[in-house]
Amino acid sequence: MSKSEPLVSSNFIRTIISEDLDSGKRDRVVTRFPPEPNGYLHIGHAKSFGLNFSLAEDFNGCCHLRFDDTNPIKEDDEYVEAIKADVRWLGFDWGEHLHFASDYFDQLYLWAVQLIKAGKAYVDSQSADQMRENRGTLTQAGVDSPYRERSVAENLELFEQMKNGDFPDGSHILRAKIDMSSPNMNLRDPAMYRIMHTNHHRTGDKWCIYPMYDFAHGQGDSIEGVTYSICTLEFEDHRPLYDWFIKELDIFAPQQVEFARLNLSYTVMSKRKLLQLVKDNHVSGWDDPRMPTLVGMRRRGYPPEAIRTFCERIGVGKGASWIELSVLEECVREQLNKTAFRRQAVLNPLKVTITNYPTDKVEQLDAPNHPQQPELGTRKLPFSSELYIDRDDFMEEPPKKFFRLGPGREVRLRNAYIIKCEEVIKDGNGEVVELKCSADLDTLGKNPVGRKVKGIIHWVSAGQAKKVEVRLYDRLFNQENPDKATNYLDALNPESITMTTALVEPELLHAAPGTTIQFERVGYFTVDSKDSQLQHPVFNRTVTLRDAWAKLK
Ligand code: ATP
Ligand code: MG
Repeated sequence: MSKSEPLVSSNFIRTIISEDLDSGKRDRVVTRFPPEPNGYLHIGHAKSFGLNFSLAEDFNGCCHLRFDDTNPIKEDDEYVEAIKADVRWLGFDWGEHLHFASDYFDQLYLWAVQLIKAGKAYVDSQSADQMRENRGTLTQAGVDSPYRERSVAENLELFEQMKNGDFPDGSHILRAKIDMSSPNMNLRDPAMYRIMHTNHHRTGDKWCIYPMYDFAHGQGDSIEGVTYSICTLEFEDHRPLYDWFIKELDIFAPQQVEFARLNLSYTVMSKRKLLQLVKDNHVSGWDDPRMPTLVGMRRRGYPPEAIRTFCERIGVGKGASWIELSVLEECVREQLNKTAFRRQAVLNPLKVTITNYPTDKVEQLDAPNHPQQPELGTRKLPFSSELYIDRDDFMEEPPKKFFRLGPGREVRLRNAYIIKCEEVIKDGNGEVVELKCSADLDTLGKNPVGRKVKGIIHWVSAGQAKKVEVRLYDRLFNQENPDKATNYLDALNPESITMTTALVEPELLHAAPGTTIQFERVGYFTVDSKDSQLQHPVFNRTVTLRDAWAKLK
């Protein structure tokens, strides 16, 4: 094993880096995550920054956080702060390397001037329509702009006037002078600078010309000494342009490496669409627990470890990758199963009266917080003669395999006694409203020999249970690929949220916002961090215990 070989599961990018380090082509690893601060991060971004930060960790390098803030119209400090919080939440640290593309505006301007002087860039004054027309198509070469042969002196003067604010938006642009007949459209004299009389979230009104992504990105990488500029596949065709600028400017050359973006079933990931969901109130905000954003997932109760595991598990490749949402949900369950405290809660109550238990007695039973981890301690669980169980745990005419309660049948109450259903009480409409049961008070924490009771059900004590608000979430979209619908909004799942209540053990009234609990036999629930109030927790269903959609398919 060579010294540069990492201990984690490999992927083709790790292989490239290992080879470069071994051959001496590179002597260190610097990566970066370059979000545009025009929206909140989603799970696809997590794949990208998870990859960049873990590569840096694995190879003892560093990963920079660089905001690609070259389009002031859509960018905002609110997004900058949210993005920083999300990256930290997943456990990554950029150290001193917080950067902004806008930090480089002065240098980029000087480099643009350098290219003009070298005859490699010119000011074009065609209208946007003319420019589009003259660009040609994939099958047809473009046509040179009538302004392409402007003298260096004229270009320098015009570019300076552009910078000084002498021209209105859209009247001129600075273009690289490459090749209007290149088969790669990106090399057909791509735009480098445009005029935009817009305030910038960091540079204010200093600039009225802004560099295009393609002119800012690679140069930012170079300034920071980034060795591997890892991006998604749609930038593959931009790589020749990335390399062209670096070569013409004769500056440090990072290597661009592309990988396939993450697509998740039942989810949209375009920021434009996510913004529309928010603006048009299809969801309650960027942090709505149904959103694929990291703030949404955090509020829903997804643990950061689960998201990291997910990103590792799905791997990194070149082929288009569609991942089932259930893979993410399984990672969430795995993590929560290890850490979440167990509590009892009944969502759909049916009254049970224990006929042989004193009506004025309340017993405090000891119940473990986590059955597999006794070191996590116990809590007191009140038991009395009046209880609630879940309606689904009783059937009047149960089939053979139903191990829960039925007339004359026995079941164990979780953390308490074995009970037997002696009588079924119905209302005038024939609906079951109460069960009268006897309890075997000799069965606390033990099964008497020779007695087989298979079923265990959860319950709460009626007098001590508290009623809380519960929000049951389901997938936001009910089609596997919402982008395939004529309009993705048509694929919204009308049942993505159900508001209901639950009766919970009293203990849960004090659960802190953000805490995730397993309601035994029901699912994982997280105390909402926004809408909960003292003594009035609101519970978000984080994930069910089993994959309900797998059965449907
Ligand atoms: P837009 O939809 O506005 O183009 P974007 O999702 O590409 O936005 P950026 O802020 O430019 O947003 O993304 C930052 C980084 O995250 C980029 O390197 C981008 O390639 C990567 N990224 C975005 N979406 C995904 C995804 N679904 N899977 C993997 N990486 C992604
Ligand atoms: Mg982008």
